[in-house]
Amino acid sequence: MRINDNFERLPENYLFSDVAHRLADYRKKHPDADIIRMDIGDVTLPLGFAVIKAMHDAVDEMASTETFHGYGPEQGYAFLREAIAEHDYNRHGIAIGADEIFISDGAKSDLGNLGDIYSHDSVIAVADPGYPVYVDTAVMSGRGGELKNGRWSDIIYLECNEENGFIPKPPDKHADVVILCSPNNPTGVAYSRELLRSWVEYAVKENALIIYDSAYEAFEYGSDFPRSIYEIDGADEVAIEVRSFSKTAGFTGMRCGYTVVPHKLFGTDADGNRIALRKLWNRRQTTKFNGASYIVQCGAAALYTPQGLKETRETINYYLENARLIRETLHKTGYKVFGGDYSPYVWVKSRNGEDSWELFTHLLEKKQVSCTPGIGFGRNGDGYIRLTGFNSRENTINAMKRISEL
Ligand SMILES: *Cc1c(COP(=O)(O)O)cnc(C)c1O
Repeated sequence: MRINDNFERLPENYLFSDVAHRLADYRKKHPDADIIRMDIGDVTLPLGFAVIKAMHDAVDEMASTETFHGYGPEQGYAFLREAIAEHDYNRHGIAIGADEIFISDGAKSDLGNLGDIYSHDSVIAVADPGYPVYVDTAVMSGRGGELKNGRWSDIIYLECNEENGFIPKPPDKHADVVILCSPNNPTGVAYSRELLRSWVEYAVKENALIIYDSAYEAFEYGSDFPRSIYEIDGADEVAIEVRSFSKTAGFTGMRCGYTVVPHKLFGTDADGNRIALRKLWNRRQTTKFNGASYIVQCGAAALYTPQGLKETRETINYYLENARLIRETLHKTGYKVFGGDYSPYVWVKSRNGEDSWELFTHLLEKKQVSCTPGIGFGRNGDGYIRLTGFNSRENTINAMKRISEL
């Protein structure tokens, strides 16, 4: 058999292994060095009590014939879909129904799998810098074109830089599918209502689909930023929203997220007929997916109880306070910083024209603090690093003391 050649054409992503190697080398040479990891892209606090209790109860249900659960609905259990519709949408005045919500084992799977429902020759637009999954999954399914100087010829890169505050504006050319992420990983920048409105207008004009990754929306609590793209009028006719409990509630190891495909969202087939995307996604999920674990869905539903909501808020506030400390320290130390006010990520520009790896090496050798080089998220990330609030307060404070001591 012939393999899918696209896999061979995809360059390895060495970012995280390169960081790990350089840290290991440094440790070998300096066995006593106490490195503080400010590059962590995973949550670090444990699950809340409400979730743990709900999962223990669910495990017990599995132990007796009367309450045992086998295959569940591929779309997810109604109890969870209804809780999401009510708490994440209806309470905020957004008319999303439980039957427009599809529970999954996380946002990463959905972001990759959504490529099943649009045409093979769709032109994809992504922000640079951005989450590498968008480009890599497009390339795996043959939507990349040729790789030239680190960029794929068929992909539209939305240039984000210091001048535009790392906010991607609609391009002056046609895209079929636009993937947006707010608050963004890695820049930590959240998108305003006006910006999202301009994207919805673009999608209407171009007959394009927006895939809106809001994995970090919980970090926007208390801000004026839209928490959902459906806060924008007409977005339910152009956008799919992908969410995750991973960063919101410490579910990175539990695996649960959801995708919203509104009834009003249509695409066109080869004969020009309008086809509901919800129908296609439902078909895709029922054919290739057997639903998320019952136990995990019980845990996720507990996030919407008063205690669950309170525990989530406390966790998010803890990370946000870390991010605030990072942002303010770096700013005072003379670095230009982006993000970090409604995001766990702080995006830092090097001071003396150093590239990403030079700044990485500088911080490691002079301060014993690790970070993620921005170049790993796209060409426009060079000269930047990402620091994260996913750490203990103590480590964050100590790392900031080291960085601010000149
Ligand atoms: C972490 C992350 C996700 C997804 O995570 P899952 O754990 O698969 O739900 C999606 N998008 C972005 C931008 C992320 O950083």
